[in-house]
Amino acid sequence: MTQEFQYTADVVVIGAGNAAMCAAIAARENGAKTIVLEKSPEKEKGGNTTYTHGSIRFAYNNNEEIKQIIPDLEEEDFKITDFGSYSEEQFYDDLCRMTDYRTDPTLASLLTGKSYETMKWLTSHNIRFIPIYGRQAFKVDGIFKFWGGMVLESVGGGHGLVEALHQEAKNNGISILYDTMAVELIHTDDGIAGVVIKEKGKTKTIQAKSVVIASGGFHANVEMRTRYLGPKWDVVHTRGSKYNTGEGIQMALNIGALPAGNWSQAHSVTGDRYLPDFEEGFQKLSYPFGVIVNSEGKRFVDEGADFRNYTYAQYGKMILEQPNNCAWQIFDAKVSLFLREEYKGRKVTKVKANTLEELADKIGEINKSSFLSEIQAYNNSIDDSIPFNPNIKDGRKTEGLAIPKSNWANKIDTAPFEAYAVTCGITFTYGGVKINENAQVQSILYEGIQGLYAAGEVVGGLFYKNYPGGAGLMAGSVFGKIAGENAAKHALTQPESTLKS
Ligand SMILES: Cc1cc2nc3c(=O)[nH]c(=O)nc-3n(C[C@H](O)[C@H](O)[C@H](O)COP(=O)(O)OP(=O)(O)OC[C@H]3O[C@@H](n4cnc5c(N)ncnc54)[C@H](O)[C@@H]3O)c2cc1C
Repeated sequence: MTQEFQYTADVVVIGAGNAAMCAAIAARENGAKTIVLEKSPEKEKGGNTTYTHGSIRFAYNNNEEIKQIIPDLEEEDFKITDFGSYSEEQFYDDLCRMTDYRTDPTLASLLTGKSYETMKWLTSHNIRFIPIYGRQAFKVDGIFKFWGGMVLESVGGGHGLVEALHQEAKNNGISILYDTMAVELIHTDDGIAGVVIKEKGKTKTIQAKSVVIASGGFHANVEMRTRYLGPKWDVVHTRGSKYNTGEGIQMALNIGALPAGNWSQAHSVTGDRYLPDFEEGFQKLSYPFGVIVNSEGKRFVDEGADFRNYTYAQYGKMILEQPNNCAWQIFDAKVSLFLREEYKGRKVTKVKANTLEELADKIGEINKSSFLSEIQAYNNSIDDSIPFNPNIKDGRKTEGLAIPKSNWANKIDTAPFEAYAVTCGITFTYGGVKINENAQVQSILYEGIQGLYAAGEVVGGLFYKNYPGGAGLMAGSVFGKIAGENAAKHALTQPESTLKS
């Protein structure tokens, strides 16, 4: 076979989000000439990673370990902060529990076991973190007590993370081609030989012995969504990056990669009913402090089943199952101080009223009498003797309702009342390709594909049905780093290709 190549590298990384940039930095650190391909224009770089808050889940044992990741945090801040601890076992158990014990044990062990060292590796590459005060810890009796196993976010959120990763890549001599889409993997009987790309619309080829696919899932591809997730998923709100349309996964499948994981379910959250696709600010995640009702005026989910970051990724789907794919989150004045930042602003669909009757009238599309009796039954079912505490699973619950509320149940009785119109928004998909402990893509013959690695949303097998918040970025970093290291090692130990450059 004779083929002309326009570019040559040891390692090509497809994508420029968190997983890709971690892979590129690790490959370069291990001596490989590395080229990154980003399908989007430079100003939209970074995929879903850009849209995150940068919240990242990792195992840690004590304050001392947190200090090593955020050395700038003052002693005074530590005095008013209870970070607690979150062991590898807790992280692993959370993954197992939330995925109905389907998570791939090899990948889950790597994710949880390497999470802390990968955080240290990120900080050694100039990625900065800060505590997630406010969203993951409320101030009670002068102390911020963290809950839900997630304590840090990147400085500047997702945008800050992407900028910092790209800056580090540039400083380390990694080339990034923007407006450049990977189209096809070039491979021979010996394994990967390069990538066909479209650079600013022109078809070209890159010669490389290793390729890392880190181009995200298929949440922004309406056809794939409908094909794999099923009816109604074509009409859900689409969050995050419009560029995650699944070609990376498809390219790997085309050369015999083994599909893995949960192709029929996805991460989906509750958020503003009328916000256009891809706009930031969609999610509405303070529901543990109120109730959610459908257009029949009925509650349909335990809003306080667990901390928000253990439930939110599956509540979008539950709203999709309601009449007209919509619902309303209801709060009263007692809890309005707990509403997150995203509840403010002009692009939020809400109504406010001084009575529940007036609130129902303003909502309009709701069965008013059923709604009023639902709220009355809910209010009557709460045991007021258990104190409300937003920082712990307080056990302040309802008694005797068909749909219980297990924590943080407060009567909805104090004006003004607020209702937020919500629907289902897809965040990312869980199905992808199978990798081994070296992040090497596995084939349908259950063998490694030589030179092909994957990381991030492209990988299937970690998340099923539900997902612990902050695990997406951590998975991208852990497996991105592993993929980059092994891609470099492979490329630098292969004999020269017989293909022409
Ligand atoms: C609104 C929102 C908030 C979130 N918040 C959090 C959070 O706080 N914490 C957390 O852990 N997770 C969060 N997530 C999930 C998180 O974004 C993902 O798990 C993670 O960022 C995925 O990283 P990735 O590198 O795999 O993919 P991405 O960051 O999506 O990167 C994929 C990259 O591939 C590029 N690409 C796609 N196709 C091609 C192609 N053919 N050729 C070249 N390039 C291509 C894309 O343009 C992009 O650069 C959130 C997601 C969204 C949408």
